[in-house]
Amino acid sequence: MKRFNHLTIKQLKELKEKIIAERDRILESHKINDEKFYISKEDQSDEVDLASTDYENSHMLRLRNREIFYVRKLNNALKKFSVEEYGFCEECGAEIKFQRLLARPTAELCILCKEESERDEQNNVMAARSKSYSDAVNLAQ
Ligand SMILES: [Zn+2]
Repeated sequence: MKRFNHLTIKQLKELKEKIIAERDRILESHKINDEKFYISKEDQSDEVDLASTDYENSHMLRLRNREIFYVRKLNNALKKFSVEEYGFCEECGAEIKFQRLLARPTAELCILCKEESERDEQNNVMAARSKSYSDAVNLAQ
């Protein structure tokens, strides 16, 4: 078994605790938001309040979606501990360094693959842009 060789038991424990603490923090803040949400609904009296509540709710919803996505990532990372796949790049299987995991416990790619995927993303944006540009030129002709 070559799994986990680049991380010590102590480092793994630290990362796992970090992920769990992060997840608990988000879940806890949701509980508080739920209570706030409930109170503000009870408080609604006139139209102005209603409008601002709507705004707050949609803002909260957006925030929530992003957090739900993050919690999912955290849960995914936790699952990897039990199958001993945590800390390896999903793309090339390379070991992800402890320092990188410490900064970003949900990291799924090694630094090289991450940079490459960012470059690809940029190229795709550029390609899409130049395509819509040539489409526009074609339409103009
Ligand atoms: Zn990689």
